[in-house]
Amino acid sequence: MISYQEGLKIVLEHINTLEIQEKPPMDCIGQVLAEDINSDYSLPLTDSSGPDGYAVRAEDITGAGKNTPAILDIIEIVRAGVMPKNKVTAGTAIRIMTGSIVPEGADCVVRFEDTDEPSNKSGPNADNPTKVKIYVEQKPGTNVNKAGKNVKKGTLILKRGSLIGLAQLSVLTTIGKTKIKVHRRPVIAVISTGDELIKPGQPLSPGKAYDCNTETVKALISHYGGIPKICGLARDTKESLLATIRKGLSADAIITSGGVSKGDYDLVRLILEKAGEVFLAGINMGPGASFAFGEYHVQSKGKTRTVPVFGLSGPPAGCMINFETMVRPALLKMLGFPNTEHPIVEAIAEDAVPEKRQMAIVNWTDLRQVNNQYRVRFNIISEKGPLYAMANANSMAIIPVGEEVKAGDKVQVMPLDW
Ligand code: AMP
Ligand code: MG
Repeated sequence: MISYQEGLKIVLEHINTLEIQEKPPMDCIGQVLAEDINSDYSLPLTDSSGPDGYAVRAEDITGAGKNTPAILDIIEIVRAGVMPKNKVTAGTAIRIMTGSIVPEGADCVVRFEDTDEPSNKSGPNADNPTKVKIYVEQKPGTNVNKAGKNVKKGTLILKRGSLIGLAQLSVLTTIGKTKIKVHRRPVIAVISTGDELIKPGQPLSPGKAYDCNTETVKALISHYGGIPKICGLARDTKESLLATIRKGLSADAIITSGGVSKGDYDLVRLILEKAGEVFLAGINMGPGASFAFGEYHVQSKGKTRTVPVFGLSGPPAGCMINFETMVRPALLKMLGFPNTEHPIVEAIAEDAVPEKRQMAIVNWTDLRQVNNQYRVRFNIISEKGPLYAMANANSMAIIPVGEEVKAGDKVQVMPLDW
């Protein structure tokens, strides 16, 4: 059996980044940009006012102070979005609001707070004063946002490969983008296999098990930006499995769970061998050792289309670990992420994993930050069993083949953001 790293290499060799689509930034959250974005505008487009106040000439307020105010004639009121009609000339001021265009002639803006006029808190007022006393002197440029201060026309603002999140949405909208190019989200077919599986809600009887993988695989696909397509439960016959797989062939990839180890009724690989190709069967890491990966060949109009198939382990822990370590990177590659590696932090082990094993072991772990240092606990399983460990873990740690961990050792831990 090959290592999980070698297995992952094989998986990624057969996965392609999906094609580009163009749509409004609002619809691209969680997708990866497929073009460089340059600003078409310098923003602000013109010099604009920082505060609410008066646009004046700095030379007219030289020497002004609390007891020696400069008194100026108010010649106009300028609000945001409106072109000033007048020029500020010697001895005059224009009342101006935040974000408004600074009128010609003015070279700075005095805040209402630095005048004899407390700012108008009750909206526009017909009897605005005709003169203003200014109590400060200012340098030219004070309280003026120069044109292009926020961004200059032509600036590369977002690189191809960037993830579109909320800050990016805000910036793209601010620079007026109505459509951007991103890689399409993959549609992933989800199939659970097993004669014993029943839907939650039905009473459990001996030998039966609730189908949990359909729910978790569906949620993981959505979490990582894919679109799940539920194809249903396949029973452990070739006919049932084939019929269910056929429902998923229009997807960009198929994920099955169960039926992929060495039992008499484990048919996923058999079907793939017949209808396509198996690239890997089994990895040297558990839970989840019976992972398989291959492709299904779809013949249509004389052409062969290939659909990648991930055969995840049946047991829920193995299924999730397979997803996180093998499917997640593939999904991210389809989505166009330049980096598909799992985030890893170095932590100090709080307890020991003494056994040296022939297989890499994945532990559900509890990772905490204490005094600027990560600390991790391994032995949650031995306390209350594997389901408790899984339910209470916030991270995973892979212990390589033949290694043991002593308390106090530095170990690599994968935080989970599920
Ligand atoms: P298999 O690989 O099909 O032999 O399945 C191994 C174990 O995983 C069996 O105990 C199955 O009941 C369990 N299993 C398989 N698929 C699921 C599923 N979708 N939900 C929960 N358990 C499953
Ligand atoms: Mg089964």
